[in-house]
Amino acid sequence: MKLQKNISLQPYHSFACEESATFYTAVQTKEALIEAIAWAKSNLQSYLVLGSGSNILFTKQYNGLVIKMEITGIQKLQESPSEVLLQVGAGENWTHFVSYCVQKSWGGLENLSLIPGTVGAAPIQNIGAYGVEVGEHILSVDAYDTVQSEWVTISQLDCGFSYRESIFKKEVNRFIICSVQFKLSKQPLLRTDYGAIKAVLHDRGIRNPSVESIANAVIFIRSSKLPDPKKLGNAGSFFKNPMITKTLYDQLILQFPSLIAYPINDNTYKIAAGWLIEACGWKGVTKDQVGCYKDQALIIVNYGATKGKTIFDFSEAIIQSVKVKFGVMLEREVSIL
Ligand SMILES: Cc1cc2nc3c(=O)[nH]c(=O)nc-3n(C[C@H](O)[C@H](O)[C@H](O)COP(=O)(O)OP(=O)(O)OC[C@H]3O[C@@H](n4cnc5c(N)ncnc54)[C@H](O)[C@@H]3O)c2cc1C
Repeated sequence: MKLQKNISLQPYHSFACEESATFYTAVQTKEALIEAIAWAKSNLQSYLVLGSGSNILFTKQYNGLVIKMEITGIQKLQESPSEVLLQVGAGENWTHFVSYCVQKSWGGLENLSLIPGTVGAAPIQNIGAYGVEVGEHILSVDAYDTVQSEWVTISQLDCGFSYRESIFKKEVNRFIICSVQFKLSKQPLLRTDYGAIKAVLHDRGIRNPSVESIANAVIFIRSSKLPDPKKLGNAGSFFKNPMITKTLYDQLILQFPSLIAYPINDNTYKIAAGWLIEACGWKGVTKDQVGCYKDQALIIVNYGATKGKTIFDFSEAIIQSVKVKFGVMLEREVSIL
């Protein structure tokens, strides 16, 4: 096991702050992963599995072992005239994997094109975009259960997927995902209902979209509206869209008729966190080299802050002002350490 000591985590997460870790190792096999965990346990060190660091904010030095997940490989398990089953290593780059599927016209993940990160992190918060969540296309997840010290295969149902949630997010650090099985369709039901996708397809004169034309539309939309984390530190949406009761929704809509909200069921509404933040005047605001992105209020960007705590404090100020104005508590989507 190649162990590095006191390394800067700056290159390993998309906010690129200068926090460090006491120990760091990268694992390319399941055996190396077990060895790293055993080392951490026997040396009384805490440990953390890191993908590409695009959904994490380090607010202080990490006292323990950072294990960078680098188990790769895409394997076809089964193929029929209608579908294909794939097993994909947790360290595979998500965007590359989606492009691979799109090139073969295997449908399901095209709306999730260009989301940064690794395949193994995708189930953690059930990544979603443009009307699709990854959990819909996951058959099962192979993970190491660090509590029972055994390998487990967790079925889609047992993953407990919901909006930006899963059992992996609830039981932090218990399951280390090593590979994910996907079920993709050769005759996919394409999801073009999202407004921006419809508009791009219309502008391009595409009446009968393919898996590829949808992926291209999503890539175009994302590239034009989201900041590139390689150029400007960010972790995508910093907050989840909050769920509120119908009673609170009825009060808010009277006071704020332009509030953006969607009914989830008879008693619950999901409201657009970006709208709430923008209505509090945060969009485009910068303080201490941290900003609320000018084109999308849900994204916090790092213009040069070296400490993750500065970004955390900025997010806390947003949470407080939304709470005061609307009585709604925003929840962070990004993992905070
Ligand atoms: C510009 C931008 C746009 C984004 N857009 C979207 C979007 O549209 N939709 C969306 O849902 N997300 C989006 N995100 C968030 C992010 O891309 C996803 O959450 C992605 O899945 C994170 O992958 P990662 O490998 O970088 O995870 P990391 O940031 O490395 O890790 C995230 C969490 O998962 C844990 N983890 C990582 N890998 C494993 C593993 N193998 N086993 C167990 N735990 C693990 C980590 O410990 C950490 O708690 C965006 C981020 C950026 C920067």
